[in-house]
Amino acid sequence: MQKNEIVTVTIEDLSQNGEGIGKADGYTLFIKGAVIGDQVRARIIKAKKTYGYARIEELLEPSRHRVTPACSIAGPCGGCQLQNMSYEAQLAFKQKKVEDSFTRLGHFTEVPILPIRGMKDPFRYRNKAQIPVSRDKNGRLIAGFYAGRTHSVIPQEDCLLGVPENAAITRMVLAHMEQYHIPPYEEETGTGLLRHILIRKGFATGELMVCLIINGDRFPKMEELTRQLLTIPGMTDISLNLNKERNNVILGHTICQIYGQGYITDYIGNVAYHISPLSFYQVNPIQTEVLYSTALDYAGLTGQETVWDLYCGIGTISLFLAQKAKQVYGVEIVEAAIQDARDNAELNQLHNAEFFVGKAEEVLPRKYQEEHIQADVIVVDPPRKGCERAVLDTMIQMAPKRIVYVSCDPATLARDVRVLVDAGYQLEKVKPVDMFGGTYHVETVCLLSNRKCKPDSYVKWKLDMEDYYRIKDTEANKERSRLGV
Ligand code: SAH
Repeated sequence: MQKNEIVTVTIEDLSQNGEGIGKADGYTLFIKGAVIGDQVRARIIKAKKTYGYARIEELLEPSRHRVTPACSIAGPCGGCQLQNMSYEAQLAFKQKKVEDSFTRLGHFTEVPILPIRGMKDPFRYRNKAQIPVSRDKNGRLIAGFYAGRTHSVIPQEDCLLGVPENAAITRMVLAHMEQYHIPPYEEETGTGLLRHILIRKGFATGELMVCLIINGDRFPKMEELTRQLLTIPGMTDISLNLNKERNNVILGHTICQIYGQGYITDYIGNVAYHISPLSFYQVNPIQTEVLYSTALDYAGLTGQETVWDLYCGIGTISLFLAQKAKQVYGVEIVEAAIQDARDNAELNQLHNAEFFVGKAEEVLPRKYQEEHIQADVIVVDPPRKGCERAVLDTMIQMAPKRIVYVSCDPATLARDVRVLVDAGYQLEKVKPVDMFGGTYHVETVCLLSNRKCKPDSYVKWKLDMEDYYRIKDTEANKERSRLGV
């Protein structure tokens, strides 16, 4: 096959990134935007020896899973890779992505996988928007999204993943800029004032925060804009963030408070969080609660346990666990996140959670070797690259009864779980959860139990689990046939 050749392809599978995969004369092609079941005429844009990439020229026969994307810029924006698939088909794709990782990369023959937990509404789930401001070719002020992998802005004030207030706030800010001739920031020259509009909403409280990120020290007629913003129900906190650096980092370090206390409050379950413009917070709080409740359930706590939460971030999982455990220790590399975790523990009067700043692969081995710390349960929620080998090895030596692995990357999850299983852990359950509808991302919670550690209570628990599986298996099969996977 050669570049620019035109071929007819039926899409039979999807890659881990959601590209359609089909064969032309036995040659495998990856085609962006194609859906399983589509028949397409495609142009080869890159031809390698055994596979290539092609672009859709014409959709000859659309798949029954294909839908018209609800968002008009779904294609160029690149934020949602799967919006042209029905939500059921997206979930089936994610379920298979997790299962395939375990079988192909983790070499598991049987995967105790439960049906993916989807979202009630796969739109309007993001509580945070960072909207770049720019000008179009005609010099008109626009706000929107960077076109996939570039820094040119496509106008879109109302991303369907975000809250409806984003559009109202953005329009207000743009109209104010228009009125007072306030220029947007220009990356090429480093001139202009407004860089991004940051908006956050507490889903449980309805509180709204607006932070204008500016290349300067003040924003003209800010009192007037503040008065207008305060007409939006829920507006709780308004600030400026000063960022005069010429780089791609969105936020600077300095906050100028204009209105409010410097934070909004939100809840995940019954744990309260103060969220400032600079602090990390999960962007989909509803599914975060689902994900972390599953982790808590898998931790099987009775109130007597010592639990470690590695890669704890702002302590969301730690504080969930602290409500049911004797003692929780969290480890996280970012100091500011640990400060938030400590503040959140205080805010919720949870005194049995202690946090350490550092790399999990250094803190855990050190604490184990020097202080002989113990763990009944260890929870990990690492970034995409998974756990360092030193973390896995120390966990194996510590031999907790249960390990709960929360993951945003099924490939590194399957790799790490294989190490734990080879060391004697049993993979009990794998539960995919969808946190990011429209995108190819999937979260997974796994429960591993220590085979060597089998007190009576464990044996009883295991028998209960077997019963649970028998029931769940039937459910899983029903769900699979519903989804056609
Ligand atoms: N459960 C957390 C989020 C976990 S995301 C929460 O709800 O807040 C993964 C976290 O791992 C991030 O906060 C990241 O800063 C942290 N991290 C990355 N590498 C790390 C390492 N080597 N050791 C400890 N933490 C690390």
